[in-house]
Amino acid sequence: MELTKQIEKGADILREGGVVALPTETVYGLGASAFNEKALARVFEIKRRPFFDPLILHISNIKWLDNLAADIPAAAKNLIEKIWPGPLTIVLPKKNCVPDIATSGLPGVALRMPSNETARALIELAGVPVAAPSANLFGSVSPTTAKHVEDQLGGSVDIIIDGGPCTVGIESTIISFMNAAPTLLRPGGTPLEEIESITGKVIIPAREDFVNHSPGRSEQHYATSAPLLLINSIDDIPSISVDKKVGLLSLEPIDKNLFLSNIDVIECLSENGDLREAACNLFAAMRRLDDCGADIIAALPVPNTGLGLAINDRLYRASRKNV
Ligand code: AMP
Ligand code: MG
Repeated sequence: MELTKQIEKGADILREGGVVALPTETVYGLGASAFNEKALARVFEIKRRPFFDPLILHISNIKWLDNLAADIPAAAKNLIEKIWPGPLTIVLPKKNCVPDIATSGLPGVALRMPSNETARALIELAGVPVAAPSANLFGSVSPTTAKHVEDQLGGSVDIIIDGGPCTVGIESTIISFMNAAPTLLRPGGTPLEEIESITGKVIIPAREDFVNHSPGRSEQHYATSAPLLLINSIDDIPSISVDKKVGLLSLEPIDKNLFLSNIDVIECLSENGDLREAACNLFAAMRRLDDCGADIIAALPVPNTGLGLAINDRLYRASRKNV
């Protein structure tokens, strides 16, 4: 079906209380009208997501901000002006019209305006904010193509809108304005450096505190089927590779012949070590390593700057499945 027809059909489905898989620049989302509690409950059910893990509301138009948020501090306004539409989610005190199921009973609502044109056209046509977590089963690798969604959730959604591969490929950065100072709830597609250049210092909670600020931030997430092991250097591979098929996830190309270790498959995230390109390729590369039958996925950390912060966060949390 032609894309504009898919968007029209998707908007009808949203208005009627259905569930739509939609492309965004970050990852594919599983969307429902933010004002339809039954549809929201279905999103949780399809994903098998615990009800304590709140949803991000996606808007197409800045006018929704005042309708949904009770208070918008100047720093938040500034960020919105400079970065939206884009991979940045902002948590603000919510108005009563936002159903509790969307925020898991929290006093704040998470809002984002995606830059993906298809997503915005769909939301605009539906005429409601669209609550949309990633379109995958809870805890597994996020989808960056329509095919990823089809493979896992094809039978349970009302339509999958195919907008091509996601251009950012990693979830949004989440900044909360529920406390006096802006607080990072999740590193993501907008570099922290860019945010801090606008707001000044952002508070970064310690890993063990994240969950208090942001209930869905369980340590373990983004898990591949094969165990993912974070390694410090390529030299760690011989000790883990006895009798195992090892897949290596690396930022830059690695010459396999230089090492005596038995790496079976290498997924390089970017030919020239570009962290944006790497973020964009990350989830698809993790899926390919799973699909090639690797017994173990060894992942090298990337520099902790720019989108590297978000990549390392996803790798760390994927590795927590095995502890
Ligand atoms: P996603 O998994 O991409 O759907 O992002 C949802 C995440 O955003 C949740 O797991 C929370 O960490 C965070 N989040 C969403 N809504 C809220 C909220 N109202 N207050 C605090 N964090 C939120
Ligand atoms: Mg997710």
